[in-house]
Order: sequence, then structure tokens, then C-alpha cells
Amino acid sequence: MKRDISFKSNSRDQLSIIPQNISDLIPFNHPSRIVDKVINKINLEPLIKDYKGGGTSSYHPKTLLKILVYAYLNNIYSSRKIETALHENVTFMWLSGMNKPDHSTINNFRGKRLKNKLKDIFTQVVLLLVEEGYVNIKELYTDGTKIESNANKYSFVWGKAIATNKEKIKTQLSELWQYVEEVYKKEQEEQPPKPDFTEISAAKVEAAIVNINEALKDKDIKKKVKQKLNYAARNWPLKLEEYAEKEAVLGDRNSYSKTDHDATFMRTKDDHMHNAQLKACYNIQYSTNNRFCVNYTVHQTPTDTITYQLHHDEYKRMYGDYPEIDTTDAGYGSEENYDYAEKNKIEAFVKYNYFHKEQSKKFKEDAFKKENFPYNINQDCYCCPMGQKMRHIQEKESYTKTGYKQKLSIYEAENCSQCPLRGSCFKGKGNRQIQINKNLERHKHIARNKLLSEEGIKRRKQRAADVESLEFDTISS
Ligand code: SF4
Repeated sequence: MKRDISFKSNSRDQLSIIPQNISDLIPFNHPSRIVDKVINKINLEPLIKDYKGGGTSSYHPKTLLKILVYAYLNNIYSSRKIETALHENVTFMWLSGMNKPDHSTINNFRGKRLKNKLKDIFTQVVLLLVEEGYVNIKELYTDGTKIESNANKYSFVWGKAIATNKEKIKTQLSELWQYVEEVYKKEQEEQPPKPDFTEISAAKVEAAIVNINEALKDKDIKKKVKQKLNYAARNWPLKLEEYAEKEAVLGDRNSYSKTDHDATFMRTKDDHMHNAQLKACYNIQYSTNNRFCVNYTVHQTPTDTITYQLHHDEYKRMYGDYPEIDTTDAGYGSEENYDYAEKNKIEAFVKYNYFHKEQSKKFKEDAFKKENFPYNINQDCYCCPMGQKMRHIQEKESYTKTGYKQKLSIYEAENCSQCPLRGSCFKGKGNRQIQINKNLERHKHIARNKLLSEEGIKRRKQRAADVESLEFDTISS
């Protein structure tokens, strides 16, 4: 016998005496409540000051900020999708107090009003976390990652290609002038003064072509040369104007994307087929403590080493002083960065290149590695595997890419010509020389002791769990 079927009633048209409070629909420990609570505590005066007043009422920046933060927490970045959520999603409705700003209001707020203010808001949030005891901003774990821009993959502009093309134009101009000289020589006439082709610009090239045309006027010249001059007059000044514009966008970089001028092409981690990937990216540097991000900076250079000081200068701007302790991986261990940390009293648990390699048995037992040569401090000399003294012969200066001056001491073995170990020791001619950067070696010695200490091992482990566990999404341009 078939039993009675009962369905739950749908009473949406039923009026209620006491209207439902939308807040009852948001669970007590819902993330939106945390967003609401935190942003309520933030001082938004600097942001409010920018409102001119008068006219119609504006959406409060607190409301808009809550909407944005909660949307980003949920990976919603499109202003139109946020607008839709404000009409359809009960959490957004509660958070916004039933306000429904449209997509252009949201975009104006984040693109214009929040510009240059977001970092200060971020700082306030971190300081709130410090107050609550979640974060210790004096002890950092720092790392960097490349975040892919939302730019077209094939939209690259290369600085090197521009330099090569300019060089080609320079060479062709010189060839054309050579032709002028040949013509004058043949006709035994006095040659016109040679234009200066060392620095080329649209105006200079235009003037040079006019000069060449002038010099060859009334001369019997080859058809090919005539064609080349016509081509040059039509194209080269325009090309050079284009190159100048591109160079202005490039700045110090070697590349940028045509669809996102701020993004630089960087080598990112290999894909699953081990193919190297070159993508339009930003280099994001970030420091954490207790897995909370406490500082972030965005850079256009792909190398982490160069970003270290800028990143920590920004930290000082935010919190008034440098951190006391910083732990990083080997990407930051340069002489310049060690000097910077020392000068600013940052205790640096910063690895250097070869830190892990030099711990290996193979490395330690390789008698031909200069790192394993005993040093005699009294005589200022090293001892090579054959027992010869390697004496100090010269001091040299060199400069890093950033222009940082390094002092290098050169040591040379007395006589390698008859040495039976020569084949295994080195490949060059003459006696073996080694180059020692004493300041860097001093820093490496300090760093090695720190990193291998009990505290160092603990911090290195914590670094992997702390800063490396942060995840990032692709950002829009
Ligand atoms: S080749 Fe020269 S530096 Fe090397 S072990 Fe022989 S003597 Fe020493």
C-alpha cells in the first residue's frame, strides 16, 4: 500500500509579524564577521579626508573596504561580480548593510581612493594582530615569488632587441657615409664633415639622412643606395621615435608586456615537463610571522637579491624600525645584503649560495676547492694541496650589477709548472690564482654559524612552514 507523501511547505509569501534580521543568517564565527570587526577598528581618517563633500551622499569607505576585502577573500576580483554578489549573496548584503554600490563605484574606490592608502590600512591591520598577540613583527621570515600578470603571453618588448636594432641603424648609417666618402674620393673632391653617429635619435638620424642626401646631390650614385636612402628617410626616424617611447617604459628593465607595461618578463618555475617558462610577471617579496603576512613589496626586477633592501626599507617606513631577526633562503645572501643587515642591526639567518653544497661530504673532502685551503693569518697566505704557499699578490675592485663595490684579494701559488696535481687542480695557464672576498667570507662565516646553530635549524624549519606556505593567485593588470 502506497504511503502518504508529505512535502515541506514553501511559505515565502507568508508575511511575518517581526521581520527577520539578516544578521541572524550569518553564523557567529563566519569570516565576514572577522572582516567586519577588523575594519571597524581601523582608522580611515586619511581616506575620508579625500572626500570633497557636497552633492549626493557617498558610500562610506568602511563599507566599500569591507566589501572589497571580503570579495578578495572569496577570490572575487571582478567589480561586476562583486556588484552581482551585493544583490544576490546574503553575506555581502549583511556586510554592506544592504548598500549596493555599482561596479564603477567599486572600481573608482579601489583604483583611485585606495591608491597609496592600502599599505597604511594593511599596516594598521598588522598592528591590530600584534595587539591581539597573534604576530611578532620583530622576527620575520622572508621569501619572494613571481606572480603572473594578466597580460598577453606574446606581448613582449625586449630591451636587447631595441638596442640591436638601433645598432643596426647606426651601422647602416656609417656604411652610407662610407659610400659618400668613396664617391668624393673618386671624384677627388674635398669630403664634407662626417656627422656624429655615436648617439642616435630620431632627430639626429633625420638630420644625418638630409646631410647624406645633400652630399650626394648631383652625384651619379647607385640605384640601391638611392633606394636605401629613401627607405631610411621614411622609416628610421619613425622607428627611433618608437624605440625611444619603448625605452622610456622599459626604464632599467630588459622587457615589458605591451598589454601591461608594469609587468616584466621573468623566468618562472619550470612546468611539469621541465620546460622553462618566461612570463609577464611581478616579483612579490613578502615577510611573515606566525603565517601572517606583515610586509609585502612589488618589484619589477626578477632577482630576489636586489629586492632585499627595498623590502626592508619599506618595513622601516611602515613600523618605524628594522626587524630584529630575518630568516631567508639563499636567494638573498649577497655581500651587499649582509652589510645592510649588519648596519641596520638585523640578525640575519640568511643563507648564501653553496650553503647546502658546502655541507656535503664530497665538497668538504675536495682538497682542490679554495674553500678548503688552510689560511695562515700571520703570513696572510693560503696553502694549496701540494703544500705550496699561495701569497697575496694583488687587491682588486669589482662592482656588482647594482653598483656595489667589492674588494677582492688575489693569491697566487709559487710554482705550478712541475706540479703532478696540476691536471686535477686547475685548467688555466701559469700559476693557480684564487680570488677571496674577505668581507663576504667574514659574513658567510657568521651566517654559517648562525644557520647551523640549534636556533638556526629551528628557524630554517619554521621558515618552510611559515613564509613558504603562503599561496598567491594570479593578479589582474
Ligand atoms: S697546481 Fe699549483 S696550486 Fe695546484 S696543487 Fe699544484 S702547486 Fe698547488
